[in-house]
Amino acid sequence: MEKVAVVTGGSRGIGKAIVEALARKNVKVIANYNQSEEKAKKLKEELEKENIEIDIFKADVSKREEVKKMIDYTIKKYGKIDILINNAGIDQEKMFQDITDEDWNNVMKVNLYSVFCTTQEVIPYMINQKNGCIINISSIYGINGGSCAVAYSATKAGIDGMTKALAKELGPSNIRVNSIAPGYIDTDMNKKYSKEEREQIKEETPLEKIGKPEDIAKCIEWLIEDNFTTGQVISINGGWVI
Ligand code: NAP
Repeated sequence: MEKVAVVTGGSRGIGKAIVEALARKNVKVIANYNQSEEKAKKLKEELEKENIEIDIFKADVSKREEVKKMIDYTIKKYGKIDILINNAGIDQEKMFQDITDEDWNNVMKVNLYSVFCTTQEVIPYMINQKNGCIINISSIYGINGGSCAVAYSATKAGIDGMTKALAKELGPSNIRVNSIAPGYIDTDMNKKYSKEEREQIKEETPLEKIGKPEDIAKCIEWLIEDNFTTGQVISINGGWVI
């Protein structure tokens, strides 16, 4: 049987490109969404035109009971999960002094707790089948830190720490765990930047361009086929951070 993948935040941006790439590689994909139901339905319809069937599943990944329902649905329908892509995430731009407890807890829940609880719900099945590939989408801010993005940076550094520790713990079960830490990628998340700011980022990037969601999906395609890469943080950023 084909591989089965769950992609969180799969209806738009980087997650959408990952869903498309995996589905076109014959992977059975469960594309998770939370608020973007219309976009998820549209993506399903677009892929159907290519004779590709995907599942879309609404779940707020910061809530364990909703994650559990999604994983139960996947196992009931396909009997296994080979690939988990923890992609869902939110941005938070605030001066450090202005971050409230509520802001902090919210970004921690959506960006970090979601990775903890989704992974925890999935790994019993991967351990049982002695095979699995988990890819977490972190950020260069987790490596370098971003000004006015302390809480966001902390979640992404947390994801990279979790990736490395889990890779050690799950390696003997033949489960590989890696992070992809994107640089500036052209998605809704970066709509807040002005034309001038985008030009400045391009200028600071050795490859003199802005990344596309497909650039991240290409790395995912490689990582799911690989056999000997685990515990790594792979930063795809055009050389913006070296
Ligand atoms: P985006 O276009 O804003 O998309 C965010 C995605 O996360 C959406 O699919 C959204 O789903 C989902 N999401 C948010 N909260 C969720 C929740 N509680 N439950 C389920 N899904 C939720 O952002 P993106 O650029 O594609 O970002 C994808 C990942 O890459 C994020 O983890 C982000 O931190 C990371 N990243 C992005 C960049 C960049 O430059 N774009 C750079 C570094 C890292 P709904 O719309 O359905 O709610």
